[in-house]
Amino acid sequence: MNNEIKIIKINAGRSNVYFIKNKSSCIMVDAGFSGLNKIINIANANDINLKKIDMLILTHTHYDHVNLLHELNKIIYTEILVHNAGERFLKFGQTPVPYSRNILGKFLLLMSRIGGPSKFDPVVPDTLIDGDYNTAKFGFDLSIIPTPGHTEDSVSVIIDKKFAFVGDTIFNIFPMTIYPIFVDNREQLQLSWKRLLDLQCEYYFPGHGKKISFDRLKSDYERVFGKK
Ligand SMILES: [Zn+2]
Ligand SMILES: [Zn+2]
Repeated sequence: MNNEIKIIKINAGRSNVYFIKNKSSCIMVDAGFSGLNKIINIANANDINLKKIDMLILTHTHYDHVNLLHELNKIIYTEILVHNAGERFLKFGQTPVPYSRNILGKFLLLMSRIGGPSKFDPVVPDTLIDGDYNTAKFGFDLSIIPTPGHTEDSVSVIIDKKFAFVGDTIFNIFPMTIYPIFVDNREQLQLSWKRLLDLQCEYYFPGHGKKISFDRLKSDYERVFGKK
């Protein structure tokens, strides 16, 4: 599999959308919040035919990652994959309010409520996963693994054991920490971080902010949870 991989990151309003492509295939991670035209333009500029995307994987169903999904779905005609636990939220068009025990998280939630309810146009997903999903059919060594903690339906997408697309399981907005602002289950999050660390990927690509190195994840793990 020495097919060269290109990773294209797009800031789609409040969250990142990624295209991961090789010579023959292209997969998409998350649908973004806003900026549909920007996504279309950047895809075109990178020779990505949106009608031929091989798969769209949702890292979880918070509205800042799926708000554009309904519109995108009219353009891309691809298989939409989500964790089992997120199916009902996608079909309903709303996700539960995330939990935060810190002041900043509570403040951000309040602000987003003032900005309107976190609803989105519902979408019926094509593929649901419950455990690990592995395939080589797109010319990548692709694994999708459940990484719950931020939410119950969080998954990470691992390409060639080297690049991990982690949604909000790792959060890179603030310089002092990559621990997510919203964590539904801290024990699960610790196990998910441990699993991501054990994979020893070169880079971890979050749903918010810039890519994170293995060393950064390791040092933050030890600071937050103690030595492994
Ligand atoms: Zn989230
Ligand atoms: Zn998010």
